[in-house]
Amino acid sequence: MRVLYSLHHNLHHPQREFEASGFQEPFEHPGRAEIIRQALAADERFELAAPDEWGTDPIAQVHDPGLIAFLESAWSEFQAVHGPTHDVVPDMFAMAGLRESMGPASEPASIDARLGWWAFETTTPITHGTYEAARSAVNVALSTWATVESGEPIAYGLCRPPGHHATRSLYGGYCFFNNAAVVAHRIASTTGSKVAILDVDYHHGNGTQQIFYERDDVLVVSLHADPSRAYPYFTGHADETGAGRGLGANLNLPLPAGLDDDGYLPMLESALESVMGFGPAALVVSLGLDTFGGDPISDLALSADGFARCGAAIRSVGLPTVVVQEGGYADEQLGENARAWLLGASSQPWPS
Ligand SMILES: [Zn+2]
Repeated sequence: MRVLYSLHHNLHHPQREFEASGFQEPFEHPGRAEIIRQALAADERFELAAPDEWGTDPIAQVHDPGLIAFLESAWSEFQAVHGPTHDVVPDMFAMAGLRESMGPASEPASIDARLGWWAFETTTPITHGTYEAARSAVNVALSTWATVESGEPIAYGLCRPPGHHATRSLYGGYCFFNNAAVVAHRIASTTGSKVAILDVDYHHGNGTQQIFYERDDVLVVSLHADPSRAYPYFTGHADETGAGRGLGANLNLPLPAGLDDDGYLPMLESALESVMGFGPAALVVSLGLDTFGGDPISDLALSADGFARCGAAIRSVGLPTVVVQEGGYADEQLGENARAWLLGASSQPWPS
């Protein structure tokens, strides 16, 4: 299987995350992608390749151009006012209630205010090279599609930073540009065919849902921890089914804590039935490996063997498939979990 990977992900390297009312060592750190790269590079069934440069036009088709411009200059602007700092994090957010009954605000001028205009939470620091890293992750996703478009049945984009929490106009949840959404829109707009996104990250892909919520050409199906107990809390409920033309083209399958391989697989099969019922020409998989039993920020109980079975289930539907990496924070097992899933998805035996 062809694996797209860019060294530039290392340019995004937060020192700490503010979550659970404290500063944490970053769960989302450069070592994650390096662990996966090393595990795949050691297996001759995987072939690593660098992505092409795609520019910002494909990003601007799903994201507010203002978000792109902000991310390009935010770190430098902040340093000019407050520097030197390693990380840049908002300290106020443009919540709708601030201006309730006063009408909407417009984008403010100061860098402090603009941070809270374009971000939705505090776990996602901007560092010196974050913009370049986020751009490279999009290049990885689009080059993965180019591989599939040229005839490969499936290919894997080792995207970092991840993308599925980024909405059209907000970054957060370790995500800056929504890699899966950019590539799904690219496929739909260049082929004229319907596309399905299957998000199997532990967390609801709120950004992907938001971007396609009113569209009927891109189906979004997500299996994730029930948001009544899990991040991102405010989206991902079963009654969110799309709006307008997109009504019926969004499916959320919230999962209970502790679900293991045998409990999860039937839910995945059900999700795949919905995917096939939509009649897509291609499938984009947002692959989160934080459903693993040993993940430090999650509460499901999948195993490496379960991941191989999940990959095989997705391969069995026979759609041209782009896999993009999302979450997964159990560093010691992350490489093997990715290898298991991808071997399953390429009809290869695992563990050897
Ligand atoms: Zn996640």
